[in-house]
Amino acid sequence: MLKIAFRPEFIHPVKEGHRFPMLKYELIPLQLKHEGIANDRNFFSPELASFETCCLVHDPHYIEQLFDLTLDAKMVRRIGFPLSKSLVDRERYILDGTIQAARYAQQYGVAFTIAGGTHHAGYDFGEGFCLMNDQATAAGYLLEQKLAQRILIIDLDVHQGNGTAHIFKGHPQVFTFSMHGEKNYPFIKQRSYLDIGLADHIADVDYLRILEENLVVLFSHIRPDFVFYQAGVDILATDKLGKLNLSPRTCGIRDELVFSTCRHYHVPVQVSMGGGYSPQIKDIVNAHCQTFKIAIDLYNL
Ligand SMILES: [Zn+2]
Repeated sequence: MLKIAFRPEFIHPVKEGHRFPMLKYELIPLQLKHEGIANDRNFFSPELASFETCCLVHDPHYIEQLFDLTLDAKMVRRIGFPLSKSLVDRERYILDGTIQAARYAQQYGVAFTIAGGTHHAGYDFGEGFCLMNDQATAAGYLLEQKLAQRILIIDLDVHQGNGTAHIFKGHPQVFTFSMHGEKNYPFIKQRSYLDIGLADHIADVDYLRILEENLVVLFSHIRPDFVFYQAGVDILATDKLGKLNLSPRTCGIRDELVFSTCRHYHVPVQVSMGGGYSPQIKDIVNAHCQTFKIAIDLYNL
C-alpha cells in the first residue's frame, strides 16, 4: 500500500518571492492523482507534532522560541522566512507526517512525505528555509520507541545535509550520508558520517557510479535497519541553484539505486521531497513524481 503524508498546510502561502518553491507541494499530489499513481486512500493527514516530539533531536530552548515566536532577528534571518505561527505549524505537521510515514514504511517497505527533507535545520538552529529537521526527528522517534537500532540517512539533495550532520555528529546509531555539490550552499559544511562533495557538472555516468559504490559500502558496513531518503531534485541540469548538471533520467536511476539497495537488504525507507528549483515547475514536479513511480514499480505498490 502506498502511503503519502500530506495536508493543505504543506502548501504554505508565503511572500511572493518565495512562493515558487512551495507551489510544487500543491502540484505533486495533483499530478500523482492525475496520472493515476495515487488516489485519496493513499494520502494520510498528519497532526501537529507535540513540543516533546519537536525536542527529540532539537534543543528545547530553540523549540520554545519557535513555538513562542520569540526567536531573535538574527536567527530568523538565518532561516530565511519571516517567522509566523502558520509556518511553525506547517513544519510541525511535516514532522509528524515523516514520523508516521516512517511507521508506514516499516509496514509497506516504503512511504513518502510530500514536502520535508528539511535538512538544513540543526540541533539548535534553523537555516536555509528549514525550521526543524523532519527526518532527523523521525530518526530520533524510531530510536526512542526502539523501532530501529541502526539508521542510515541518505541525503542526495544538491545541498549538503548540514543540519542533519550537526544533529547526529558522532552518534552511535544514526549514520548520515550526504552526496552533494561541493560548491553549493552551505559554504561551511558540517561533517556527516560520509560526505561526497561532487565537482560542478559531473558526468551522469560518474555520478551514478560514485553513488552505487558508496551505497554498497555503506549498507554492507552499517547494516542499517531503517533508511531515510532525502530525494531532492535540485541535482537537475535545469535547476537554478544546483551546480550539478544531471538529467531527469539520471535522477530516476539515482532513485532506483537507493530503492533497490534498500530492498536488497530488506530495509524500510521513508522518502522526503527535499529541494527543487528548476524555473519550469513541470521539471520539478515530473522529477518528484518519477521518484514515486520508481518506488511503486519496485515495491509492487
Ligand atoms: Zn537543496
